[in-house]
Amino acid sequence: MIRLGLMGGTFNPPHNGHLHAAACAREDLRLDKVLFIPTNLPPHKQLPEGSATTAQRCEMVRLLTENLPWAELSAIEIERGGASYTVDTLRQLAAPDRQLFLIIGTDMLLSFDKVWREPESICRLCTLVAYARGIGEQRLLEEKKRVLEQEFEADIRVMARAPVPVSSTGVRGGGDLDRLVPPAVAAYIRKHQLYDRKNGK
Ligand code: ATP
Repeated sequence: MIRLGLMGGTFNPPHNGHLHAAACAREDLRLDKVLFIPTNLPPHKQLPEGSATTAQRCEMVRLLTENLPWAELSAIEIERGGASYTVDTLRQLAAPDRQLFLIIGTDMLLSFDKVWREPESICRLCTLVAYARGIGEQRLLEEKKRVLEQEFEADIRVMARAPVPVSSTGVRGGGDLDRLVPPAVAAYIRKHQLYDRKNGK
């Protein structure tokens, strides 16, 4: 059985928080591989003005994963086109010799039953692995886990790890690139002057 982790996101840009959650999940759940899956059109989020293009978001994810033997970019949602629904991706990736683990942060677990398409089907297709994005979120995650396990018979693992409180919004807003994203992604953002970065900032 292959234990496959999936980390979906807009990755606008990918950052150390994504990397942290994926690396922890790999260790915590003994995953063989983690796929980073950039959305084509995110259903729950408008990409703000000045965002990276889809090709640029993909390239940054490729750079983030290129030296990690256990991580890989998957363009499955971009190749599928249209709005990206996780349930469709899980159906496409499901296979008898694979166990799927969907890696998500606090915001996504808390909104899971409200905004995701077919949450019950998602729960049948995978195990949810949740990480706190900020300090003090652990209890919220544990409470939500109980609710969702009752509602959907979901298999949810809330992992206790010190959070890495980084967001793409913070990076786009001018945060210190060298602290927030891996070096290869920082270099790409600077080179292409993404998110209004000027003068190598
Ligand atoms: P934005 O600030 O543009 O809303 P984001 O930082 O939330 O972006 P996404 O690409 O939307 O990043 O997130 C993809 C997935 O990664 C989501 O499940 C999200 O909860 C999770 N995630 C994002 N940042 C972190 C973090 N710092 N720690 C753990 N999980 C995270």
